[in-house]
Amino acid sequence: MSTALPIILSSSDEPANKPPAAPLEANRPGQLYDSHGRVIHDLRLSITDRCNFRCRYCMEPDYKYMPQRELLSFEEYLTVVRVCLTLGITKIRVTGGEPTLYSQLLPLLTELGKMAIEDIAMTTNGSLMTQESAKAWKEAGLHRITLSLDSLRDDRVEHITRAKTNLNSSINAIKIAKAAGLSPIRVNVVIMRDVNDDEIADFADFAREHEIDVRLIEFMPLDSDRAWHRSAVVSADEMLEAINKRHTLVQLDRKNPHSPSLNFGFADKSLGKIGIIASVTRPFCGACSRLRVTADGKIRACLFSLEEWDLRPLLRSGASDEELAAFIVDSVWTKQKGHSINAADFVQPKRTMSAIGG
Ligand code: SAM
Ligand code: SF4
Repeated sequence: MSTALPIILSSSDEPANKPPAAPLEANRPGQLYDSHGRVIHDLRLSITDRCNFRCRYCMEPDYKYMPQRELLSFEEYLTVVRVCLTLGITKIRVTGGEPTLYSQLLPLLTELGKMAIEDIAMTTNGSLMTQESAKAWKEAGLHRITLSLDSLRDDRVEHITRAKTNLNSSINAIKIAKAAGLSPIRVNVVIMRDVNDDEIADFADFAREHEIDVRLIEFMPLDSDRAWHRSAVVSADEMLEAINKRHTLVQLDRKNPHSPSLNFGFADKSLGKIGIIASVTRPFCGACSRLRVTADGKIRACLFSLEEWDLRPLLRSGASDEELAAFIVDSVWTKQKGHSINAADFVQPKRTMSAIGG
């Protein structure tokens, strides 16, 4: 199924990077497998590298956006999704950069809404959401939304995002998302030592107050400032200890075996949940079902891959759906077994989270 293709130069004149041909066993109709036996059904599609924030753990203050011509076009994003669906992808998360800055977000969601996709979600900082836009996204086919907020203190929100924003903006986005029915609403919080780790229990209160799912995320080495250090990671155990001092948590059954998050409810049956994403101290690579496509059309089989495979030249040279599918199959076959953050020789990927798509 894998086709030998000439090397085609991308618009940035760099040689296109293509994966080695996967063995025949990789080609199973309607299913995407990696070489470690994992089935991949969850696509994270980044639709822009632009952002109105510059979060310290994500994007350099002077990050230079990729030239527009290097980003995939509207039609190219749709082609990627369409081909991925033929390969067994059932869930799509639209992300970025800040996806709400993408001028064709609503048409894109409308087209995705017409496709047979079980779950369409979007991650956003929420700052540009309005009642009208949220309602339109929902009507177009978006099922749910994840918002990002890293502190409940305005001074810290500004410090972390390096933007003029505040807590109220996020609370407003939660209310808008609720009213639009974009549920279950999740709020991602990246916990960093000596930055916001004294707010862990406050975020549990926040989950209860707003009846939402707060996801506390261990700081991952994908930051812009290259300031990540093991000592800056607040572990899942520490987070649980901090919350249990104030509330009794009960662990919930893992409804989705591929979910990266350890999920908890409150023993007093208050609404609101806590999820902990412990990528560093409790890696969940064995259950990973994800594939990432960057805004410029690079396939990343793992968030921490040092290699990525350039689908864009194929997309721009009139390749057939079968050729694109073969390229994706070959790319996924290269998915690494684990992320090796905890190995002495771990190398941080060049791209930061904003350029990969979180
Ligand atoms: N701009 C949108 C937002 O902030 O929600 C979507 C893109 S952002 C890259 C997606 C998610 O990645 C955010 O929830 C953010 O907190 C998370 N993220 C970014 N850098 C991270 C890092 N170094 N460690 C852990 N999570 C990170
Ligand atoms: Fe922008 Fe989201 Fe990265 Fe913050 S986390 S800089 S909002 S892409």
